[in-house]
Amino acid sequence: MTIAQSILDIAIAAAEKEGAQRIIKVNVVAGELRGIEPMQLTFCFGLMAENTIASAANLGLEITPAKGRCKACEEIFTVKDYQYVCPKCRSGDIQTVGGTELRVIDIEVE
Ligand SMILES: [Zn+2]
Repeated sequence: MTIAQSILDIAIAAAEKEGAQRIIKVNVVAGELRGIEPMQLTFCFGLMAENTIASAANLGLEITPAKGRCKACEEIFTVKDYQYVCPKCRSGDIQTVGGTELRVIDIEVE
């Protein structure tokens, strides 16, 4: 719920800055470690956007994969199924370097 609210706040602030009447689309990039359920987020966003300039806005959601960096060999790789093991040297000493981001990349307005 709070993620939907953050996205909405950012989108409305950006639209108002541009003097827009209506937001048509909000494009968001979210890391998979945020644990976002796209359908649930879209639903929450729709509810919160009621009676705002974003009431008819579509949410474009792009989920980016988790990334890890091996502390042993510096390899950077995509983490699948929460397997924090280096594909190159099999080390388990992994630092998370991607997958937690949440950004509104752009909005479409009229
Ligand atoms: Zn490694």
